Amino acid sequence: APLLEGRDLLQLYAAPTGPTQALRGVDIAVRGGRISAVTGPSGSGKSTLLAVLAMRERPAGGELRHRGRLVAGLSRRQLQSLRRREIGWVAQRPTHSLFPQLDALGQILEMARLRGVPCDDNAARASLAEVDLEEVARAKPAVLSGGEQQRLAVAAAAVGAPALLVADEPTAELDDDSAALVLRLLRDRASQGSAVVVATHDARAIAAADTVYRFRHGVLSGSQDAGRDHTTTIDGQGRL
Ligand code: ADP
Ligand code: ADP
Repeated sequence: APLLEGRDLLQLYAAPTGPTQALRGVDIAVRGGRISAVTGPSGSGKSTLLAVLAMRERPAGGELRHRGRLVAGLSRRQLQSLRRREIGWVAQRPTHSLFPQLDALGQILEMARLRGVPCDDNAARASLAEVDLEEVARAKPAVLSGGEQQRLAVAAAAVGAPALLVADEPTAELDDDSAALVLRLLRDRASQGSAVVVATHDARAIAAADTVYRFRHGVLSGSQDAGRDHTTTIDGQGRL
């Protein structure tokens, strides 16, 4: 069974002209061991879907199941513990998923502590090295460049290969070398069993994915598996 299964997901936001359907009729299954990329125009619902999958937002309608259990039925405590231990989150603005008061090494150690994953200084330095950040181990997020913040946010979220690793535009600010490091890290965690989901416009990240979901106006308009040359097109409601 998939790690996460969304059926007929709906998300609404208030807008001056009435509620916006940021997601509608979205069916999606997220499995461990794979990288899924969600792509589509700006405002099409990518970030909203990621926030729902990462259990940072509750959908307004439809069902989200985690290991077969309804997420809506989890208590606040259960949800918090699940997010802490099993879900890595990289916000579109990487500083939003970093602790402002901790240096780069501290980010890794703190995430490991929250997840209950053993990690000492050497292991934390090795995590930083994966994204070429050993030299800024003692720097706090505010003094890092945008690209460094982004690589740090990915490295921290990926600590311990969480069951679900969700990243919003994780390569947006990166040059080719840094993007390749981040994509290699995501692939490594997928090969350790993580279900990796990225929202992206970046052709480099799309090329690295196993499955690509396309979004238009809050509706999934197609998906494509790497190594196959067809796009599944979906009925008018955006069902897969
Ligand atoms: P994308 O990530 O593809 O750019 P989003 O998921 O951010 O798209 O947005 C989808 C739609 O929902 C857009 O119309 C956006 O303006 C709206 N939206 C997203 N988040 C909010 C919010 N917190 N409040 C109000 N509207 C929002
Ligand atoms: P909120 O209460 O705003 O939802 P959280 O409790 O999820 O925030 O996390 C507080 C801080 O810890 C956030 O700034 C976030 O950067 C970091 N954090 C906690 N859990 C995670 C995680 N699983 N992945 C990435 N960052 C996390």
